[in-house]
Amino acid sequence: MTTSPATTTRTRRRGDAGVPDGPDILCDNLVRIYRAEGLEVVALQGLDLEVQRGELVALVGASGSGKSTLLGILSGLDTPSAGLARVSGHDLGSMAGRERLEYRRRTVGFLFQQAAANLLPYLTAAENVELPMLLAGVRAGERATRARQTLEVLGIPDCADRRPGQLSGGQQQRVALGVAVANRPRVLLADEPTGELDTRSSDEVFEAIRLANTEFGTTVLVVTHDPLVSEQVARTVGIRDGRTSTEVLRRDEVGADGAVGRVAEEYAVLDRAGRLQLPKAFTASLEMRDRVRLGLEPDHIAVWPTGQPDGAGERGADGSGEERR
Ligand code: ADP
Ligand code: MG
Repeated sequence: MTTSPATTTRTRRRGDAGVPDGPDILCDNLVRIYRAEGLEVVALQGLDLEVQRGELVALVGASGSGKSTLLGILSGLDTPSAGLARVSGHDLGSMAGRERLEYRRRTVGFLFQQAAANLLPYLTAAENVELPMLLAGVRAGERATRARQTLEVLGIPDCADRRPGQLSGGQQQRVALGVAVANRPRVLLADEPTGELDTRSSDEVFEAIRLANTEFGTTVLVVTHDPLVSEQVARTVGIRDGRTSTEVLRRDEVGADGAVGRVAEEYAVLDRAGRLQLPKAFTASLEMRDRVRLGLEPDHIAVWPTGQPDGAGERGADGSGEERR
């Protein structure tokens, strides 16, 4: 599922872009502990994640599983307690003041649930999109051209000269997306960007996110509760108790009847240390707990509950398949 650590730590420079090769987002054993009034909350407990350049990945998980904490770290607002978080070659644990500012200005863009609330009400949509470019020192002519182009790609060219108050919720959120990608960040982080919208607006916003991904080549990590959104992406990562636990990969396949169908396959995540979380339904049905027996077969690994009557689970713990037969 993941590439070897050797490829991810490579920092070969790519021409004048000055951006290292390897995944755009890399988390290795990432930990974030909140300390408040003597209490400790381990929000991220050794999370591993890789997102390759140009990917659009949905992140799903129950409330409190650590999704916003992860995005806070990746956006450079918060820092890890331990472990590695790297985005487009920037090490988020060690990044200092000036680099952090530049990182937030140019490398990542963010879109949050109430992003539309951050639009300046007295500026038009186009002027709002120009603002981050102004802060990044882009000159006036270029700003205006790029703002129009951005709104066009996101499907709202007709909103350019209107103020936020004259736009629908979905249009506002798409303008906010325009602000997020104004400086053409390498990575877009979106935390439940469609959470407060009706289905139709939510579809439009997600379509705009998808366009930013394909047209600008922006790598996207989007947190969503919306199954309709997660079902549309090629890869969904599930997070549970501060760790990545499952992945669903989807691809289009041509069936026997010639029709194209979507195939979705769910995988358990195998982390860098070789840890695997077994689904509760599986372990419960075989009454597995505390410890299990493992056996290496030619093309798979077998897992048995301990204490089986025929003793199948009592041997072969050294990984040899022979003894059990
Ligand atoms: P999610 O976005 O998946 O709902 P969060 O990342 O917001 O989850 O929260 C993960 C855990 O960390 C939760 O248990 C939450 O209560 C806790 N948490 C989040 N932010 C803070 C904070 N600033 N101080 C203390 N605990 C926090
Ligand atoms: Mg959250």
